[in-house]
Amino acid sequence: MIKFSNVEKKYPNGLLALNDINLTIEKGEYVAVIGLSGAGKSTFIRCINRMHDITDGTLIVNDVEVAGLKGKEVRQFRRNIGMIFQSFNLVTRTTVLKNVLVSFVPDLPFWRKIFGLFTKEQKMQALSALDQVGILDKAYTRVDQLSGGQQQRVALARTLAQNPDIILADEPVASLDPVTAGQVMDDFKKINQEMNITVIMNIHHVDLALAYADRIIGIRKGEVVFDGKSSMVNQSV
Ligand code: ADP
Ligand code: ADP
Repeated sequence: MIKFSNVEKKYPNGLLALNDINLTIEKGEYVAVIGLSGAGKSTFIRCINRMHDITDGTLIVNDVEVAGLKGKEVRQFRRNIGMIFQSFNLVTRTTVLKNVLVSFVPDLPFWRKIFGLFTKEQKMQALSALDQVGILDKAYTRVDQLSGGQQQRVALARTLAQNPDIILADEPVASLDPVTAGQVMDDFKKINQEMNITVIMNIHHVDLALAYADRIIGIRKGEVVFDGKSSMVNQSV
C-alpha cells in the first residue's frame, strides 16, 4: 500500500511541484497519472521510490516511511520497486538476456560481479521474465536489433526479474507508435492482473489511460484535480 498524507514537494529553486497530496493506492491497483507537461506527474512517481525527497507531509510505501530511509535501506527498499522509463535505458550493444541479468548485479558477491558470472538460477529467472513479456525468442539478440516495443518489453522483463511488488512507469509508451503502445499497455495489464503487481504509470495519452488503467489520477499544477475509476470516466463522456 502507498499512502500520501499532506505530501508536498518543493524543488530547491522554490517551485512547488506537489501540493498537499492525500491519497492511497492499494496493492494490485493499475493507476494512470495524467496531466499536462509540467503538471507534476514525474515528481509524483519519483517520490514513491525516493528518487526525489518530499519536503513536507508523510509518504508511506509498503509500511515504510520513505523519508526515514538511510543509504543502504534506500537501495534495499528500491529492490521491490521497478522503474520503467520512456527511453528504455538499456545497454543496446549487448544481448537481451545480458540486459535482464543486470538486475541481479547488486545480489552478486564481489568476485562474481567482476566477471559477470550469474548463477544458473538467475539465468532461468531472467529467461522466465522474458517469456512473461513474450520475447523469449529474442534472448540472444542484440538490443539494437529490436523494435521500440520489443525494447520496452526487455526493460519490463529486467524489472520483473527483480520480483517487484510495485512498478513505476514514466511515460513508457510515449516514444512508441499507437499500435505498439497498445501492445505494451497490454503487457502492463497482464503483469498487473496475473502477478498482482501494483502499476503506477504516467501517461499523456488519455485514451490509452482510460482503456487500460483501472484508476485515473489527474494532476494539474501540483494538485490532484481528479481521482476515480476509469469506468466512471468512460460512462460520463
Ligand atoms: P510532468 O511529469 O507532469 O511533466 P514534472 O514532475 O516533471 O512534471 O515537473 C513538475 C514541475 O516541476 C515543472 O514545473 C518542472 O519544471 C518542475 N521541475 C521538475 N524537476 C525540477 C527540478 N529538478 N528543479 C526545479 N524544478 C523542477
Ligand atoms: P546499487 O547502488 O547497489 O547498484 P541502486 O540503488 O543503483 O543499487 O539500485 C537499486 C534499485 O533501485 C535498482 O534495481 C533500480 O530499480 C532502483 N533505482 C536506483 N536508481 C534508480 C534510478 N535513478 N532510477 C530508477 N530506479 C532506480
